[in-house]
Amino acid sequence: MTEQKNLREQLAGCEKVLIGLGEEWKLKGDASGKGPAGAKEREALLDRAYQALYELVKEKDYFIITMATDARIYRTPLGSEKEPVRSADGMSGEELCWEGMGEELRERMDRLFPPKPAPAESRWQRIVAPCGNETWRQCSLACTKDIWEPGELPEDRCPHCGAPLTGNTMEAQVYIEEGYLPQWERYTHWLARTLNRKTVILELGAGFGNPEVIRFPFEKTAYFNQKAFLYRVNARFPQITEELHGRAKGIQADSVEWLSYCSHPMSVS
Ligand SMILES: [Zn+2]
Repeated sequence: MTEQKNLREQLAGCEKVLIGLGEEWKLKGDASGKGPAGAKEREALLDRAYQALYELVKEKDYFIITMATDARIYRTPLGSEKEPVRSADGMSGEELCWEGMGEELRERMDRLFPPKPAPAESRWQRIVAPCGNETWRQCSLACTKDIWEPGELPEDRCPHCGAPLTGNTMEAQVYIEEGYLPQWERYTHWLARTLNRKTVILELGAGFGNPEVIRFPFEKTAYFNQKAFLYRVNARFPQITEELHGRAKGIQADSVEWLSYCSHPMSVS
């Protein structure tokens, strides 16, 4: 439990938390081999882990990028459309242009023009799922970029060409990426504001399935932000590159299981 305690201490002192949920958070990716009972167990474990993640970061300015496409996260407190999330900047998107200024000039400008508090974002606005959302529907022939909510088209057929609809995920023959792009933009803006700020990077279960989604960019973010610390929790690939020596910690564990222990009463300091 020491690692979990260290993590909680690091979180207490940081301004930003970047969270990546990788392959280990996909239900289908579960190689437990225990059949339906194993899958049920895994689902319960996932729910506990999401709850633990919420408890860990609910007071922080965080962003979650997930490779899971099951939309399960939106049914947890992390997916709340009402609860506002903390912002450590007190700046709105329009004021991003101040970011490049020197410290002194910035302070003077702040006195002259006090920064407006940023409009509060809700928790679901701090999740991006670039691999898609299987509860959303798209045309299987991708004749249109339209995306439908579950149940919106009861016949489950494309109203434009009549083809069957399919889940709006990377698994679709032609993936309509418009589903996640607005959130992706929000994510990249948020990420730009982590530079030079004390940031905990929590990479959970992201292996080499699609390393360009989480694993590689997280390494790059940790490398360029000298105030960042990377936690890499992975059952098979917890290795840390030499460049991040002293600013990263690899933990060999199933990240879902590991995280679910973060809220374990035994580990509360
Ligand atoms: Zn169509």
